Amino acid sequence: MKEGKLIIFAAPSGSGKSTIINYIMDVFNGEDSEDESLNEEEGSSKLCFSISATSRAPRGTEKNGVEYFFLTPEEFRQRIANNEFLEYEEVYTDKFYGTLKSQVDKQLSEGDNVVFDVDVHGAMNIKQAYGKRALSIFIQPPSIEELRRRLEGRGTDAPEVIEQRIARAEYELSFADKFDEVVVNDNLEVAQVEVESIIEDFLDE
Ligand code: ADP
Ligand code: 5GP
Repeated sequence: MKEGKLIIFAAPSGSGKSTIINYIMDVFNGEDSEDESLNEEEGSSKLCFSISATSRAPRGTEKNGVEYFFLTPEEFRQRIANNEFLEYEEVYTDKFYGTLKSQVDKQLSEGDNVVFDVDVHGAMNIKQAYGKRALSIFIQPPSIEELRRRLEGRGTDAPEVIEQRIARAEYELSFADKFDEVVVNDNLEVAQVEVESIIEDFLDE
């Protein structure tokens, strides 16, 4: 069976990356998806979300094994010691995030295309490991002020967490030109359609 491809998303927190990923998963995997025919003719074109592990606490309605595998910092360190991660980062102080090799290998070997939501370093590392088999997409907010408005509007993070995320955003923005594609998420619908078309082209290659 043909092995799957990798689609990597990164963006400063609050840029709209999860919103865009959810849209993409619906479009490519939804019931009326045109890609159903592809599944039969050319092997799977299904998109699977790579579930990362993290040592941060669940947010809002998040559930273990759905958005993330939630681990204690000790469990996370143990898995680092066991060499279980394809890549991992301490994105915020004491908040580890990482991609488990076992997860990704299983999904790719089943022919699924795997979608990653990772920080900028994770994106660079996965791209380097998989080269042309991977597509890296940076979702850029229109401005830092708008990023703050979105994080406040989302209403899921305490004020000090929002400050942490804003403080990191400038740094993350400096990575944009290292990505295969940069999409500015100003008007959500425009950004979603742009990302959809980029992914269609990549999967057709
Ligand atoms: P991220 O995954 O990058 O942290 P989210 O997808 O959670 O970001 O989006 C952050 C907030 O901004 C959410 O409340 C979302 O509904 C909102 N949002 C996303 N895209 C836009 C947009 N283009 N314009 C206005 N609000 C947006
Ligand atoms: P959040 O706490 O908002 O879910 O995620 C914070 C940041 O960690 C985001 O930039 C997200 O993309 C990143 N992240 C999530 N999972 C991983 C991962 O497995 N590896 C890396 N390097 N970053 C991740």
